[in-house]
Amino acid sequence: MMASFNFTVMSSEAAIYFLVLIILLHFRQRIGIGVFMTVLGTMHFLETYLAAKFYVELPFGAVSPGSAMMFTGKLLMILLLYIKEDATTVRQLIYGLLVGNLACLLFGVILGLHAGSGPGGVVIADENFLREMGVLMVWGTTLLYLDSLAIIILYERLGRFLGRRLVPRLFVAGAMTLAFDQIGFYGVLHYLTGAPATVFWAGLFAKISMAAVYAVMTAIYLALTFEERLTTSALTLTDLFNDLTYREKYHDLLSRSGTDALTGALDRGRLDREGTEMVRTAMRRGRQFSVMVIDADHFKEVNDRFGHLEGDEVLKKIAATLQRCLRSGDRLFRFGGEEFIVLANAAGHAEAVAMAERIRQNVADGVRAGSVAPVSISIGVATGPDQGQSLIELISAADKCLYQAKADGRNRVQGVLGV
Ligand code: GH3
Ligand code: MG
Ligand code: MG
Repeated sequence: MMASFNFTVMSSEAAIYFLVLIILLHFRQRIGIGVFMTVLGTMHFLETYLAAKFYVELPFGAVSPGSAMMFTGKLLMILLLYIKEDATTVRQLIYGLLVGNLACLLFGVILGLHAGSGPGGVVIADENFLREMGVLMVWGTTLLYLDSLAIIILYERLGRFLGRRLVPRLFVAGAMTLAFDQIGFYGVLHYLTGAPATVFWAGLFAKISMAAVYAVMTAIYLALTFEERLTTSALTLTDLFNDLTYREKYHDLLSRSGTDALTGALDRGRLDREGTEMVRTAMRRGRQFSVMVIDADHFKEVNDRFGHLEGDEVLKKIAATLQRCLRSGDRLFRFGGEEFIVLANAAGHAEAVAMAERIRQNVADGVRAGSVAPVSISIGVATGPDQGQSLIELISAADKCLYQAKADGRNRVQGVLGV
């Protein structure tokens, strides 16, 4: 009775913890990520204090809200920070916590040196307390570093099997990481405070059930705020480790800039940089990779009839239509004036031709110049490794197909003949 009441209270605490942090995370662009990080860091102190000193009766035994509710929440917040930002941002948080905790530990030692401690002098209520907390906080944060690596990797890996099934994906990543953490944290807690084995099991169950509560809340938030990163990235352990340790924001900055101002498609510079790399990676992994070269039909006439500004509007609509037809791993680039390139990862030739056909159809059906005249596009499609092993080879093969599509009357898709 009392135990299940306590469980309800703890779930409400989790909801409040989540709500406070999610609001700060959500508005980070407006108020700065520093607010989120500081609040999380502040609560870290309470979390560690509770983990050492405050236990309540739950259906599985005596459990600390510090470990079960706050630590689990923090870990899920770190995963969310990664999903919304990147590993480099997560790194700032963890390093900040680690340095802050080391400083606390250091002060715990120095403060003990004050002259006149004890009766008549300065009163120190509990000297050991500071030191014990300091050790726990430093150890907890060291574990947190490993936990963060683990939960991010697990989340990415699980994406392959679970994809957009977010609740199980977040829950399993969280639960597995927490089980690992519980072993490490309990070991030191037991050493410092003599916590009995029941604390280990009860804590484990409580963390895992809190992980379920947070997984549901996080999934709801992610579903409400569409996120491209929900699909799997080809992140490796080395990539992530580099991110969490020394790699700078350079690549990240590159990926944010480099979009074409008119259409929002990626620009030519990024086609050269990232496109080349995408093809190289696909070839190395023995995967197929398709390139579409897209050119608007009779676009000079559109400009002549409706003016250059309306021509620009049409280009925007074409780009928006293209973007809508792509899968999440595909990329759209503006190649030149009214020419676009689509890079389709892991798409075989037939699949890419079918996709191009859908795109062509959507443009023909949906895009109008001056809201009356239909606009069409022609698309040439080539697929590696059969038609080429590099971006340049694939573009030139697709370009030949495009030329054929134009010659055959436009508003059509041309794949490689004989495939
Ligand atoms: P087709 O491709 O079907 O053979 O005929 P086309 O008239 O589209 O011929 P082409 O691709 O050679 O010509 C491209 C034209 O697109 C030339 C230029 O007037 C127009 N164009 C290129 N860039 C822009 C742009 O940014 N805005 C506008 N409004 N027009 C552009
Ligand atoms: Mg052209
Ligand atoms: Mg054209």
